[in-house]
Amino acid sequence: MAAAAVLSGAGAAQAQSPGTSAEQVVVDRPTSGQPHRGKVLALITPHLDDGPIFAGGLLAKLISEGYTGYFIRTSNDEKDSYDLTLGETVLANERDTANFVKTAGLKKSFDLSYRNHRMDDVAKTELRGRLIFLFRLLKIDTVISYDPWGHYEENPDHYVTAQAVEAACWMAAGRLDLPEHMEAGLQPHGVSEKYYFARGPQLVNRVVDIGPFLQQKVSIIKSCDTMIVHMVKDLNATLAKRGLRLPAMTGDSAVDAFIRESFVTRDHTVGAKYKLDYAEEFHYIGPDSSLHDYIEKNAKPLA
Ligand SMILES: [Zn+2]
Repeated sequence: MAAAAVLSGAGAAQAQSPGTSAEQVVVDRPTSGQPHRGKVLALITPHLDDGPIFAGGLLAKLISEGYTGYFIRTSNDEKDSYDLTLGETVLANERDTANFVKTAGLKKSFDLSYRNHRMDDVAKTELRGRLIFLFRLLKIDTVISYDPWGHYEENPDHYVTAQAVEAACWMAAGRLDLPEHMEAGLQPHGVSEKYYFARGPQLVNRVVDIGPFLQQKVSIIKSCDTMIVHMVKDLNATLAKRGLRLPAMTGDSAVDAFIRESFVTRDHTVGAKYKLDYAEEFHYIGPDSSLHDYIEKNAKPLA
């Protein structure tokens, strides 16, 4: 299964990745129309900026192709600002989250509000149970999240969230998992497609051509204003200690320059590996097709 190319997805075409040995990589190209109309996705990350930075192009592409999208933010982002207090930081990132939802064209966000950088202290079953509830309530077909098997991830919020997402995706389909949900009117509902991204090395089998969505991705990243300003000011403070300054990273253009040099440049470098202008890499897991051929040959209409 691991080596099999997944051929679902509009506009997908195979290419051999230069960096992933025998693993076949599907390049997902722009497509016309709305092939995903009626489907529902959830971006699930601990921090506001995770999705925009690693999957902002994919998100823009899937929404433009017809998906209805939700954002589930598992932490409260209380640690991510340059000079605000902890309480002010929670509020600033909550407001930025609302801005992100609007900019990305998502329908709504859900803040689970676990304490930032402390998610390794969260009961796995509780986090998983809350995700199962939302997957059933929103009838999520597709998730975008951190790769639970990405290497060298140092942030516990990232891997704790990723592992809970991975398990919740299949358990949400179980009739005997949290059966009280069914008494409340929900139905079992498994997630059939997953796009996993990682900060470090991961098994890449899906590359998304984000060229037509690059400007939208930049806008999506900019909506995380408190966090991006934090990155810019941290960089400037570090350089100042070395007696250096970057003229482009000061003043009104600083955020744009930082996004360009950090994220747009990275997406361009990734794209060059696949002869694309700009790209994002994922480990994609599609619907289970192991019985597909057998069903095609042998299934009969119900009498
Ligand atoms: Zn993060």
